[in-house]
Amino acid sequence: MNSGVIRWVFFIVVGLVLLGLMLRATARTVALAQAAAAQVTLMSPTPVVVVVVPATPAPPTTTSTATITPIPATPTNTPTNTPLPAATQTALYEQNCSLYSKIPADLLTVVDRDTALPADYVPADLEVAPLETRNIQYRAIPLRKPVIQPLLDMLDAMNQAGLAPLVMSGYRDITEQQLAYDKWLKLHPERAADISAIPGHSEHQLGTAVDFSSAYMIQFYGGDDGFNVRFADQPEGRWLARQAAYYGFTLSYPAYAVDQTGYAYEPWHFRYVGILALELQQRNITLTQYLHECVPAPTATPSSQ
Ligand SMILES: [Zn+2]
Repeated sequence: MNSGVIRWVFFIVVGLVLLGLMLRATARTVALAQAAAAQVTLMSPTPVVVVVVPATPAPPTTTSTATITPIPATPTNTPTNTPLPAATQTALYEQNCSLYSKIPADLLTVVDRDTALPADYVPADLEVAPLETRNIQYRAIPLRKPVIQPLLDMLDAMNQAGLAPLVMSGYRDITEQQLAYDKWLKLHPERAADISAIPGHSEHQLGTAVDFSSAYMIQFYGGDDGFNVRFADQPEGRWLARQAAYYGFTLSYPAYAVDQTGYAYEPWHFRYVGILALELQQRNITLTQYLHECVPAPTATPSSQ
């Protein structure tokens, strides 16, 4: 080979190498440009979708709710659940509870299945009522002072009507109530709590509750107290149911209010509440219901434990 041919071969080889390098560089630039372009296209759709998608369904929902909204249904349901307007409530309270503030508060103490007296509660004005001739045990029964005269007046009226009531029980302290409860627990374990108050929950601890009976009841229904619902059919029971309210005594646990009072029907058990007794009789409601309506909430359980 001569030197001219070698020179041409050299130029061709160098030229090819340079061309190859140029092509590679161009290819890389295109790839980078494509990648960048791909990144841009990948990023850009996301915000568009996010913005557009929720925007469109929103208006239909609002319009559909507006047309379906049971606006009349909601208010008709609400009034039954919401308390009466304040003015109506006050008027009702004044109408139904006007006597509440006129009667000594200690005659209207709440004592029931839910509310107990303190174990050491003893009324300050307990007196021994002269009832020796009015019961078969010849006991002088303690009662609160305001109860004694109305009770004696009522017993006199019953005697004058030809009846012979007996007074079986008045004030009982918590120990005596425990004895009474234990007695019933032994006799009727399954319903002792319905027929006798659990100690602390007895109106007898107030000194204003009285249990009545009659010689007939004791003779025919046994025990030393003769407590039996048949007392309601006896002349003494019938008289008390109608007339006791005129002397300030109210039947605490009537037959119609067993669910409300939590105690079984006790036609022999009366509680002295003064002139409120007549109103309760006229309205045919129990003291429990009255106190539930009329005792101001914060002082409803002044003596609960
Ligand atoms: Zn009683």
